[in-house]
Amino acid sequence: MEQKTTITVARGDGIGPEIMDATLKVLEHAGARIEPEFIDVGEKVYLSGNTSGVPDEAWESLRRNKVFFKGPITTPQGGGYKSLNVTIRKTLGLYANVRPNVSYDPFVKTKHPDMDLVIIRENEEDLYGGIEHQQTPEVVQCLKLITRPGTEKIVRYAFEYAKKNNRKKVTCFTKDNIMKLTDGLFHKVFDEIAEEYPDIETEHWIIDIGMAKLADTPQDFDVVVMPNLYGDIASDVAAQITGSVGLAGSANIGDNVAMFEAIHGSAPDIAGKGIANPSGLIHGAIMMLVHIGQAEIATKIHNAWLKTLEDGVNTGDIAKGGASVGTMAFAEAVIERL
Ligand code: NAD
Repeated sequence: MEQKTTITVARGDGIGPEIMDATLKVLEHAGARIEPEFIDVGEKVYLSGNTSGVPDEAWESLRRNKVFFKGPITTPQGGGYKSLNVTIRKTLGLYANVRPNVSYDPFVKTKHPDMDLVIIRENEEDLYGGIEHQQTPEVVQCLKLITRPGTEKIVRYAFEYAKKNNRKKVTCFTKDNIMKLTDGLFHKVFDEIAEEYPDIETEHWIIDIGMAKLADTPQDFDVVVMPNLYGDIASDVAAQITGSVGLAGSANIGDNVAMFEAIHGSAPDIAGKGIANPSGLIHGAIMMLVHIGQAEIATKIHNAWLKTLEDGVNTGDIAKGGASVGTMAFAEAVIERL
């Protein structure tokens, strides 16, 4: 029997444990050759007094296994708590956040049946560097950091991704008409690297009109690369217009470690009700399986998931008032179709 890959798993907060249990059940029935090693991170750890939300033993597990499958985490508001997601991405050097957004028309209702784009979000720099200061009692400051090496890495990743996945165009979004140095550098590096890929079409939009176009005619986009904050916002918009923010998965890629998750958060408004859509996390799992060399299992799960949708089995966010099933029943429907 082929050896199993040990992966570090955090069930997460809010709806996290519900969608993680459902997803792990799908993985087990699909025959994924993985061995989960569970860690506690997030709300419980924050509230025990650890302001990073990540205890030492969790770091050890992450560094040992190098693959992290994570449920969504609640960051407590205020009080010096650091976002665990930002800490993990920065500490482990997870520089590329890859977020595919695809329409599943006619099985998921959307105004954009031909949408199939991938957002590549820079994942360590920009305003998410965590450099925030209280200047005076009435003035606070947050520094925006863009570096040439960081930008070269993410832009090259976007072009390589396009090449490997047979995609035709890479678009860049910045706000370099206003932030001439920071976003100006990102745009300049994009133009330089674009020259290395003459077979790939390129374009640049200022983020505000770019986002307006993406929300209106997403079918005109293919791979879209942008700084961290813009990518965070753009990927929620993109997922929502495919039908639900609960659909999209995300890969956070570094040179040594990779983390896979859903793009959405811990959804406290529906936590504990057993109604959350596990599809975003299932898509994160599919990307993880490809990453660890189990593409055939990834395809098997993806096909079963598609068949589930085709057969009209939906969670509430997709059914939008029509007949719906809960989180675990949806997972069981996927399992029946494996
Ligand atoms: P959210 O994504 O958790 O929820 C936004 C809306 O989408 C809610 O109405 C929610 O019910 C719905 N939704 C989200 N996922 C769903 C799913 N799988 N099925 C059905 N409906 C779903 O965003 P928020 O409310 O702004 O954030 C809640 C918490 O999550 C915050 O503490 C935030 O910091 C955290 N968060 C974590 C991550 C992460 O761990 N990667 C990402 C984003 C937000």
